[in-house]
Amino acid sequence: MELTSHPTSRNAYVETRAWLLAQHGPVCAYCGVKFIASVMTLDHVAPRRGQTAYDRRDNLVLACPGCNMVKRDQAPLAFLLGSRIRAVNLLRYGAHLSPMLVDMARSLVPAGTEQASLANTTSSADDSAIDWAALIDLDGESPYRN
Ligand SMILES: [Zn+2]
Repeated sequence: MELTSHPTSRNAYVETRAWLLAQHGPVCAYCGVKFIASVMTLDHVAPRRGQTAYDRRDNLVLACPGCNMVKRDQAPLAFLLGSRIRAVNLLRYGAHLSPMLVDMARSLVPAGTEQASLANTTSSADDSAIDWAALIDLDGESPYRN
């Protein structure tokens, strides 16, 4: 445990949380689920390594308690690889992140996801079993309006 004895850093933290809530609402940047604002935590996308850039806004996103707990013990890349919908959501809710982090997330999103292309790609046996279109549809584009 490290002491958090820097009031200016603490203020920046609170400001960033408020800014992110204003930008996206209380939506988890990893699972894409909307929660009540009071439970949302700020998550450092890249882990703390004694760097002064730790509390920079371009390293922070909103995360739900569940994702925060899962991610705590993992490297960011391993966490994103654990469920690639996290990378998709991180691209959507983390546009403010540093270019390095945006590139990392983008590299994990399968090519063609945004176009939802259903071309004949049946020969690849790696991620092709995943129905990306269904995952992306978490965005409220469901045909069921009520
Ligand atoms: Zn989450």
